[in-house]
Amino acid sequence: MNDSKHQPQVVSARQQMDNAIAELWQSCREQGRDLYCRAGCGNCCTLAVNCSYPEAMMLAASLTVKQRQQINDRLPLLAQLCTTAGDLKEFLHSYRHQGDGCPLLDPHQHCSSYNQRPLSCRALLSTRPPPWCGVDFSTLHPHEKQAFLSSLDQNFVAYPSHYLAQPLELAAALEKSLDEEFANEYGVNISGNLIWLLGLELTSQVGKRLAQREQGLVEWLLEQQERYPYLLQVTKRDHFEH
Ligand code: SF4
Repeated sequence: MNDSKHQPQVVSARQQMDNAIAELWQSCREQGRDLYCRAGCGNCCTLAVNCSYPEAMMLAASLTVKQRQQINDRLPLLAQLCTTAGDLKEFLHSYRHQGDGCPLLDPHQHCSSYNQRPLSCRALLSTRPPPWCGVDFSTLHPHEKQAFLSSLDQNFVAYPSHYLAQPLELAAALEKSLDEEFANEYGVNISGNLIWLLGLELTSQVGKRLAQREQGLVEWLLEQQERYPYLLQVTKRDHFEH
């Protein structure tokens, strides 16, 4: 398993995120605003989570044999959901309903890789009770949906979701900077679905092969992106010696 040279940047990004979230909890408490995230909820872990490749590499390197198996066992289902979906919306819908949740969620609804979880998982802070994190909005009556949307404070949440906007914005900025560092080093940016990226690293050792400047690897990744567009995004840097 490749020991990512981007590990210090990932650790620092996670620390920034965790510090910002601790401050937000404090500030919400002081303002009398409720945040509902609690250990053992896990409702948001049925969402399709995206992450940067340096984060996926670091998480992949920390997985136990059992967790690796759980990731690998999930890949055929994700491939099927991706290749049968007509568009991104349909893919996200089927992911939520047929994707079986994150395989890293344990039977007690705790994240089994909590300290290694990606920025995008850390960034979801709910301003509504847990059932709202698992609700399928397409099944709500239009009046219920409208009542929910009207109840949201648009200066506070990432509208139309009920998740706080600030940590999501910070996570996006930190991921972008990790992506930039990675692309500066390897001439390619890889991002996408957390489970798919973990599978890519576990089965194909992409990080190690990029470090070895393996010929044809970036082209193979681009082909993979074409095959699985909702699971993998690859951007090649122009004028980079691969
Ligand atoms: S990595 Fe952990 S927190 Fe993130 S979706 Fe999976 S189980 Fe949930």
